[in-house]
Amino acid sequence: MSAPEAVEKRQGALAMLADFVRAYPVRTALALTALVVAGLLDGLGLSLLLSMLNLATGVEDEPSLPEQLALDVVAALGLEPTLTTLLGLGVGMIAVKAGIVLLANRQVGYTVAHVATDLRLNLVRAVMESRWRYYLSQPVGKLSNAMATEAHRASEGFYHGAVMATQTISAVIYASLALLISWQASLIALLFGGFLLGLLHFLIRMAGGAGRRQTGLLKSLLSVMTDQLGAVKPLKAMGRENHVDDMLSNQTRQLKKALKNQVFAKAALIALQEPMLAILVGVGFFFFLVQMHMPMATVMIMIFLIARSVNHLAKGQRAWQHMALSESAYWSLSATIAEARAQTEPPRGFRTPTLEHHIRFRDVTFHYESRAVLHALNLTLKAGQLSVVAGPSGSGKTTLIDLVAGLLHPDQGRIEIDGIDLAEIDHRRWRRLIGYVPQDPLLINDSVLRNLTLGDPDLGPADAEQALRMADAWEFVRTLPEGLETALGERGGRLSGGQRQRLAIARALIHRPRLLILDEATSNLDSEAEAAVVATISQLKGKLTMLAVSHDEALVEAADAVIRLRDGRIEHGS
Ligand code: ADP
Repeated sequence: MSAPEAVEKRQGALAMLADFVRAYPVRTALALTALVVAGLLDGLGLSLLLSMLNLATGVEDEPSLPEQLALDVVAALGLEPTLTTLLGLGVGMIAVKAGIVLLANRQVGYTVAHVATDLRLNLVRAVMESRWRYYLSQPVGKLSNAMATEAHRASEGFYHGAVMATQTISAVIYASLALLISWQASLIALLFGGFLLGLLHFLIRMAGGAGRRQTGLLKSLLSVMTDQLGAVKPLKAMGRENHVDDMLSNQTRQLKKALKNQVFAKAALIALQEPMLAILVGVGFFFFLVQMHMPMATVMIMIFLIARSVNHLAKGQRAWQHMALSESAYWSLSATIAEARAQTEPPRGFRTPTLEHHIRFRDVTFHYESRAVLHALNLTLKAGQLSVVAGPSGSGKTTLIDLVAGLLHPDQGRIEIDGIDLAEIDHRRWRRLIGYVPQDPLLINDSVLRNLTLGDPDLGPADAEQALRMADAWEFVRTLPEGLETALGERGGRLSGGQRQRLAIARALIHRPRLLILDEATSNLDSEAEAAVVATISQLKGKLTMLAVSHDEALVEAADAVIRLRDGRIEHGS
């Protein structure tokens, strides 16, 4: 079984909690220790108050075990067990307990933020380090859903797990006090309380089911949504937006049903827990007073302790239900991370790349699935030249670029860089020598400078200016109201197509690449802008090696060498 399948197979709120404990052992141990200490202080404080009550009411009975313990603590502190001392100490301990719980909860809150951040970073890193072919096969919506909703729901699962632990510890402390007073009576009452709550377990399963349906629906809803939003214009232009509506509204309705089940399961649990507790108190009174002939004062204390213990268990049960709701998001996200990790691109090659002479394809064949896309291709791209690969759509131009960048690897034959097989060259270092200009450069809503450096702290305004000068863009950037600091607006809306493309070229040049790849870089431009960008590219000739993919004749004319592809073969006579 592969790692992602193994993750997918694991389920259960408690297994999720176990994963969190393993991932954050120190934080968990600290929070649990604080909670146990707080619980013990609470128990001791309560015992002190019980002793005080006995002292105040003048009951002469043997003190119960908890009271005896409390009195021993008072004696150990060298104090007289007077009313005021007992009251003061009891109240003090309960106050200290509240403070410790506050600290522990703060710690839990920070950890929740940690869990969400770590899950998100793990996903981003795993996806970024995965093979290119794996990345291509991933629906963007699935990844953004995992990043946003699944990570959030999973961290909520952790929070509710922590609440469950807190409530269980309190329940155990109260139950222990009751057991110390009368173990037979307490055991029977606790088992009865546990049984009553156990009857409600079906509501936890129901919540788990509602959570799983939501996880599945959100994943597909966001995948469809993201794809469709990317293609809104043609859909609207062809009057087909109602299909999207149908598809989305059907899933949205199913989501509503799952949410209704969730709300019902939560409300029913709260509503049914209350009468269960009332039944427990009623039956408990009857049992202790009538059946066990216990004195009224002891019965009151026992009922108080057992009711509190079961009340904490009931709150713990509600937290468990919340965990059941979120666990499927955690497993889904973990499976996505495991799947991406299983597809991690292995480090390739060790030799230092250079690009002084040429890039050479030797009998390079490449298949997608079983279909050959490039057939025993032989070609040479000379360093310092502008080589243009032209050809109809589907002829293999993009595949050729991906092979040069080492994103894909030849099935047969080899690609040599200055005579060295690319397979032997350190791929990361090779890619760092490449500048890449896509067809539709994505400009971010930020300053010109940040659009060029993309936040790289090693790059400054001087690098930006040099790159802009090389890309023929310095003149227009200089005349912008705030120069490099001018904000570009959404998708670079304030610039013309040609200006945007020249900024994209400057962005690729800022890292001083040895090889500039232009992937249909002039295809979306009008003829005037195209001519300007082609002029920019032409004056870069000789300064670095350029590989352009284009069916744009102007670029073909400017080329030092033209390779015409058709169906994955070089057309001769070109
Ligand atoms: P071009 O860039 O010239 O349009 P491509 O290199 O993108 O051509 O594609 C070449 C061939 O490979 C096409 O027939 C295309 O259908 C196929 N192809 C491209 N990408 C994939 C993929 N991820 N999976 C399967 N086939 C693909």
